[in-house]
Amino acid sequence: MKTGFLERLKVAYPELKFRDGTKFAFRPPKTIVLGPLEPFYELLILHEVSHATLKHKSFKMDIERLKMEVDAWEKAKELANRYGVEVNEDLIQNELDTYRDWLHKKSRCPKCGLTRFQTSNRQYHCPRCENFTQQKRSAVDK
Ligand SMILES: [Zn+2]
Ligand SMILES: [Zn+2]
Repeated sequence: MKTGFLERLKVAYPELKFRDGTKFAFRPPKTIVLGPLEPFYELLILHEVSHATLKHKSFKMDIERLKMEVDAWEKAKELANRYGVEVNEDLIQNELDTYRDWLHKKSRCPKCGLTRFQTSNRQYHCPRCENFTQQKRSAVDK
């Protein structure tokens, strides 16, 4: 790690708090948790700083979470350029893939495997199974 990288960030973002932890994370509104030293330590820090500067808080829809990650990486690349930090596209795509997989798993209907949709109350609905339930229910009503 280049000496003074963290110091430069602390000067640039005096409102942020940096503390050590077991994995990289952003704790809204102001805390950046620093993970273990690894090859892309600086880039990972910039990603979390990006969440903070983009004022990411909570997300209502899971798809918003993925969007936040994409936005934070875009911003991290910009910052990497400014701080002379090497950008690794493989790392970024791997990180995003974990969210894509997560989203895919969450949206998959456990009964029929169809991709479900999420409504603003965060509930997932299966277009196939729920229609079926509704039809059954109305059949009972009659
Ligand atoms: Zn992130
Ligand atoms: Zn289903």
